[in-house]
Amino acid sequence: MGRARIGSTQCVHAGAERWDTSSSVVTPLVRSAPFQFESTAALVDYLEGKTTRRQPEYGRMGNPTVASVESRIAALEGAERAQLFASGMAAVTTLMLHVLESGDHVILTRDCYKRTRDFCAQSLAKFGVDATVVDVCLEEVERAVRPETRLIFTETPTNPNLYVLDVERLARLGRSRDIVTVVDSTFATPVNLRPLEHGVDLVLHSATKYLGGHNDLIAGVLAGREEVVQPISDLLMTMGGICDPDTAFLLERGLKTLALRVGKQNENGQAVAEFLESHPGVSSVLYPGLLSHPHHELARRLLEGFGGVVTFQVDADFAGTAGFVDALEIPTIAPSLGGAESLVEQCAIMGYWDLPPEERRRWGMEDNLVRLSLGIEDADDLIADLEQALGKL
Ligand code: PLP
Repeated sequence: MGRARIGSTQCVHAGAERWDTSSSVVTPLVRSAPFQFESTAALVDYLEGKTTRRQPEYGRMGNPTVASVESRIAALEGAERAQLFASGMAAVTTLMLHVLESGDHVILTRDCYKRTRDFCAQSLAKFGVDATVVDVCLEEVERAVRPETRLIFTETPTNPNLYVLDVERLARLGRSRDIVTVVDSTFATPVNLRPLEHGVDLVLHSATKYLGGHNDLIAGVLAGREEVVQPISDLLMTMGGICDPDTAFLLERGLKTLALRVGKQNENGQAVAEFLESHPGVSSVLYPGLLSHPHHELARRLLEGFGGVVTFQVDADFAGTAGFVDALEIPTIAPSLGGAESLVEQCAIMGYWDLPPEERRRWGMEDNLVRLSLGIEDADDLIADLEQALGKL
């Protein structure tokens, strides 16, 4: 399977439209909620599809600034169409509500964003949709398929263990059983992986992360074939979880430096993971670029780069791990990932604090597990900081 490399030229220009009504070099920020018509006849022509225009009649149905970003993301992912949402979770929930009906079955891979799992277990269950959570392994996914399975949803690489699923085999499985396959590619970005080229139906991102890239916006996106994305867009117009134009403007700015940032984050990830693996104060490191990662070979085959997230266990108990996190000077204690600033979290606390300790461990959130989401700082500085914090264990 040929993989086109996404470089900075594509990030700055691919999918960009030239606006005929403005001499602006960058995409204009259009804030209007309703869009006007010259006359009633023009309105009727538009409603009857006799004319097309950049802006629909009302901002919930679409917006020119938002559409410009969608066109760029579609180009980067090799998709016919992309749809922006108010958040990654708005994309997840709108997609699932469109695809699944009462009596259907959805398969999720185990190591995934907790709220995606919670939405299936709690909200979809109320509508008679059954969910099975399986390990990140294609054989496990295959075994879980039932006649009523309509959707398989996986992250790749996964959160926080950075497992990799064979997306090519996933796509073949989906096609052979008429099941919609979706890859949440937030951790990979189109720089490291283009799932649609491997044949899956939809790629999804929390654009809050690498696509935005500056820890200053919340957005989500889905991309795929027109016929798959269009009905989900229609549902979004009713559900209302749209991306606003100000956010889209920031997202477009972020996209232009995507390849630069992710390239640096790939380098930082590898350097930091190798350092941590060699340190006696670290008991285990999960990074797909390390030979020791269980999915290293698959990651080498599928990914252009191994990403900017490194997950590891320090040789300490719960309090000692918290002390290590507190001693770090460059990364900030915060959820999220993919921005310019490095962020760090003790996984048992961030996102899992509401669960009792034994339940947290059941989901792999050991007391000493740390997720480090590297930014674009210099690797030497990040490593020196980790070294001083590990020295305090
Ligand atoms: N998918 C992944 C892999 C995530 O890490 C997250 C959030 O952390 C989401 C989806 C949800 O995205 P958002 O926070 O933009 O709603």
